[in-house]
Amino acid sequence: AAQRAGGMEKREEAGIEAGVAAMAQCYQPFDPAAYLQYNYTPPRADFSRLDSIVPWKLGCLHRAFTAGDICGGTLVDVGSGPTLYQVLSGCEVFEKLVLTDFLPQNRAALRRWLGDDPGSFDWSPYLRHVCQLEGRSPEAWREKAARLRSVVTDVLPIDVHRPAPLLPGALPGPADCLVSSFCLEAVSPDRPAFTQALRHVSTLLRPGGHLVMIGALEESYYLGGPGVRIPVVPVDQAFVTASLEECGYTVLEFCTYVLPADMCVGVDDVVGIFFLKARKKKVAL
Ligand code: SAM
Repeated sequence: AAQRAGGMEKREEAGIEAGVAAMAQCYQPFDPAAYLQYNYTPPRADFSRLDSIVPWKLGCLHRAFTAGDICGGTLVDVGSGPTLYQVLSGCEVFEKLVLTDFLPQNRAALRRWLGDDPGSFDWSPYLRHVCQLEGRSPEAWREKAARLRSVVTDVLPIDVHRPAPLLPGALPGPADCLVSSFCLEAVSPDRPAFTQALRHVSTLLRPGGHLVMIGALEESYYLGGPGVRIPVVPVDQAFVTASLEECGYTVLEFCTYVLPADMCVGVDDVVGIFFLKARKKKVAL
């Protein structure tokens, strides 16, 4: 029986490996500018509507990073893509912020904004909105942009499917907090690969540290550019929380957003979005 179980485990691992290689191929033509246009402009980023996706996400992140239990030395954002909205609240309560992505074109897009390149994406409406959530004048957005640029210490390559997702020595020590938005479900070929990737990513986090995750519910694909159809593993709350528990987390908060019909703009088949806050248990499993 033990031999049979071992054989099944090996076949599962080989299956994940083949799926992971296929996902890596799907990502090669990913177009950061198109992805930003699809997801980070109106109607999905309409700051005059609180039921628009981006204001909902920014509100969740603001609440998480001002509750007082999450702060510290280093925050690592896993699978940043070409986006920065997910760290606009966290950058205020961490001394160092490390951005990461699998693709060089996404790391280059992040570096362009960090270098204040005039051709980079305009995050100023996002910065203004988060300043307002923080009780500051929207005009403080330039200070917030300067704060973000000053705390980002690195933009690193990452592969969540490797047991050590970052290159050896890339981080001086484990992070105090991980943020990850729309990454694990969008890069994993199936549910076992999602859980395995979560286990890998968790090695970057200190025991007792926090994980703040945003993701797609019941999505099966999204567009990473014109004609770039990227498969997504459909997940639900029961699966995500079971996966977190299996990887040694206590789930502190889980909330969901259901997409209004006019947010379905033909760039994916996402049904809803989850936001969660979890804490890595002090005793390793
Ligand atoms: N975090 C961004 C957001 O909130 O919009 C981007 C999410 S995008 C749906 C998924 C990201 O995962 C892409 O930036 C992609 O380059 C990255 N990715 C693809 N394969 C990966 C891997 N094996 N490990 C880590 N990230 C990966």
